[in-house]
Amino acid sequence: MKLELKNKKEYVSIEHNPYEKKGYSRYAKLNSKCPVCKASVCDKDGKIVLLGKWKDKKHGIFVLSDKFDDFKVEYPEQFNYKEKLIVEFICPYCKSSLVLEEQHNCQKCNAPTIMLKVFTRSVIQFCSRTGCKEHKLFLHKDDMWAFMRQIYTDSML
Ligand SMILES: [Zn+2]
Ligand SMILES: [Zn+2]
Repeated sequence: MKLELKNKKEYVSIEHNPYEKKGYSRYAKLNSKCPVCKASVCDKDGKIVLLGKWKDKKHGIFVLSDKFDDFKVEYPEQFNYKEKLIVEFICPYCKSSLVLEEQHNCQKCNAPTIMLKVFTRSVIQFCSRTGCKEHKLFLHKDDMWAFMRQIYTDSML
């Protein structure tokens, strides 16, 4: 899959929650969709539910946190997360692979990376290797307010 950011100037890339150190609540919720069929991949609690394939054609359902900079994952029962395996994530609706082209491989561990659409026009890219925390949010200017508002509103509760 291609990482398509049509007008690069309209995006800022964010690697960590910019408000973390300012006393605001840590996380912004990513409203995630499949970049191919545009279906929401979130369950009723907002968590990201994806199919995953790993070595020897094993597959199962992975539940990822929808919060930016949070790395909690619920693994399928038969998956050994200690092996630091590479998982090919797949949209549960249209069954498209969410893996990006090789040129976008992880800068830290060289594993393929995964793309999801977030908010309306933004994109998140994250490493497919279990335990690697490399990720990047390409936040579109139209989604800036949605992203910041959540962090700010959370801090008022
Ligand atoms: Zn899809
Ligand atoms: Zn990595």
